[in-house]
Amino acid sequence: MAYAFFIDTTVCTGCRGCQVACKQWHDLPAEKTRNRGTYQNPPDLSFHTYKLVRMTEDVYDGRLQWLFFPEQCRHCIEAPCLEAAGEPSAIFRDAATGAIVYTPVTRELAADDIIQACPYNVPRKGPDGALAKCDMCIDRVRNGLQPACVKTCPTGAMNFGTRQDMLRLARARRDQVASRYPKAMLVDPDEVSTIYLIAFEPDRYFENVIATAGPRGLTRQAALQRLLRPVSRAARAMRI
Ligand code: SF4
Ligand code: SF4
Ligand code: SF4
Repeated sequence: MAYAFFIDTTVCTGCRGCQVACKQWHDLPAEKTRNRGTYQNPPDLSFHTYKLVRMTEDVYDGRLQWLFFPEQCRHCIEAPCLEAAGEPSAIFRDAATGAIVYTPVTRELAADDIIQACPYNVPRKGPDGALAKCDMCIDRVRNGLQPACVKTCPTGAMNFGTRQDMLRLARARRDQVASRYPKAMLVDPDEVSTIYLIAFEPDRYFENVIATAGPRGLTRQAALQRLLRPVSRAARAMRI
């Protein structure tokens, strides 16, 4: 069964319940931070932070606008990190869910190459060289539970289910919000299993919202070429 997330940023309030639930479920430590003049905290994803609510203050049509983006791994359909690793004991696709999962064996990989291969800049390296990121809570999902971040979200921004259902929901919500947000779009829906609906242009949120934003070197270009292979192009051509 292929599962997917649909994350509707138009109803996200930035409460960070998802961020905390992720840490609680995975028993991940909090991080020492300081006031940097923003509510976004910690500042970035890390080996101990798989989910981060990115927060941007922007002026839109003369009004202050909060842009929230609950970031996590996109669980790519053809994952460049998995292809770059080439080692199933380190990075594999879980057959039961479609999740891309990292194991402690990632410490034996060339971590920087894996990080560069990710077109969304998601994996993070720990002190022993192992890599970590969102695992789709496969232990919960395999036992019939929703991912912790989805279960805790109070607004309906986080959704999880079969890929078909999530795509249907995502397209319906995009159409619903179109009159209020004319620039609303789904982010790379045919390439990923974490499908975001955003209200404004991607670069207003942060640089790695879409796979094509912000070049990160040749390896990233190669990763993008993999993402845009003929099978994916065919899928995009069928996009409704
Ligand atoms: Fe791998 Fe990055 Fe895709 Fe996640 S978003 S599956 S880390 S390539
Ligand atoms: Fe964290 Fe699980 Fe949500 Fe991934 S699916 S962000 S691991 S709580
Ligand atoms: Fe947004 Fe839901 Fe996360 Fe709160 S729990 S920050 S509303 S996605």
